Amino acid sequence: MKKMTKLSIVMWVTLFSVQAQAKLNVITSVTDLRNLAQMVGKDLATVESIARGTQDPHFVDAKPSFMAKVSHADLVVCIGLGLEDAWLNNVISGARNPKVRIGSSGYLAVGPKLNPLEIPEGAALSRSEGDVHPEGNPHVTLDPRRMADAAKLLADKFSELDPANAVQYEKNGKEVADRLRKKASEWQKRIEKSGLKSVVTYHKTLDYFLQSMGIKLLTVLEPKPGIEPSVNHLAEVMGVMKAKNVNVVLIENFFNPNVANKLRELNPSVKVALVPVSVEGEEKIQSLDDLYESLVMTLENFAGGKK
Ligand SMILES: [Zn+2]
Repeated sequence: MKKMTKLSIVMWVTLFSVQAQAKLNVITSVTDLRNLAQMVGKDLATVESIARGTQDPHFVDAKPSFMAKVSHADLVVCIGLGLEDAWLNNVISGARNPKVRIGSSGYLAVGPKLNPLEIPEGAALSRSEGDVHPEGNPHVTLDPRRMADAAKLLADKFSELDPANAVQYEKNGKEVADRLRKKASEWQKRIEKSGLKSVVTYHKTLDYFLQSMGIKLLTVLEPKPGIEPSVNHLAEVMGVMKAKNVNVVLIENFFNPNVANKLRELNPSVKVALVPVSVEGEEKIQSLDDLYESLVMTLENFAGGKK
């Protein structure tokens, strides 16, 4: 290695730039999927989320800046099940990128492949009635076990789009899936030990988390999905809670925090927490692992008598 020849420098630069270009450019609809895609893609992918973790994922502005990002993407990953219907389709069509059009190989909706819960039966529900879950509950990212399955879906999709790195994607995906499944059992054991059996939430965001942890969702504060509860409605819910001896309420932190105050006024003994339900829903929540851990800790504290 006395000196690098001009040729070898050119080769290094070329190799480096080919590698840099070869990174998979992934755009996710929400931060939970961004975190998962980062864990599966590691340094082989660049991943950005459109929605922020502090936003209600049903309602996001389809900004031109998002379209610009999607115009360069190799892959768009979303939940589907109607979660992003109000905005993502507009972002994708505005991006004019044939690779990521709905139905093409660069578009992946993971929700329908993750055994969705609460698919409405009978007559189709209308959004005008306030329904925002017409294809089943789309909040699948709150279940660590379903996210373990989603890690495999991402690894398979990354491998399809970038076969040269398939072995690495599958290895990363398996690592994430194994870790989330193992931790899910540990979180579930902690919840069982806490003795907490039943809670109330604002929207049906936490159903998958609660089901995975063995907690019953007594009811929700919203009279209908997407509709803010009146004080009268809150009083009715408090009546149901009293009858069933349930006194824990989790409010997803992007909803109106005044609802928590109203509940405390109605019944000072109720335990209410505003909780993050997405990666970056609070500053300290940087990963799915952080998110589930924070929810488990909140419930443990409540079961232990803290308010
Ligand atoms: Zn929802």
